[in-house]
Amino acid sequence: MASVADLVDPERLAALATPANLRLGHSIAADGGVEFTEFGPLLVRARVGGTPDADQHRTVVLKSTSAGLEWSCACTSAKTLFCKHCVAAALATWEKAPTRHNRSR
Ligand SMILES: [Zn+2]
Repeated sequence: MASVADLVDPERLAALATPANLRLGHSIAADGGVEFTEFGPLLVRARVGGTPDADQHRTVVLKSTSAGLEWSCACTSAKTLFCKHCVAAALATWEKAPTRHNRSR
């Protein structure tokens, strides 16, 4: 089964999230706003900080399942919304994943 990091490559993120959430997620990740509390190949849990004007922390869970990527964020109950916190956590997961450099495409 694919790891979480395999499922959050930049092309997939671009398809999952809206441009506005992608941009916000990028800035949260760039500001070091992602703090992992659990980092496994199939489950990643992180506390994600907000933007400077909305400085709240949200818990994001990214999961690799047989059906693909599953996610949840405390900021919304909308299961299909890949919010800015999810984007930030996904970007940080992608950056941190040790195997991404020798993964074949
Ligand atoms: Zn969120």
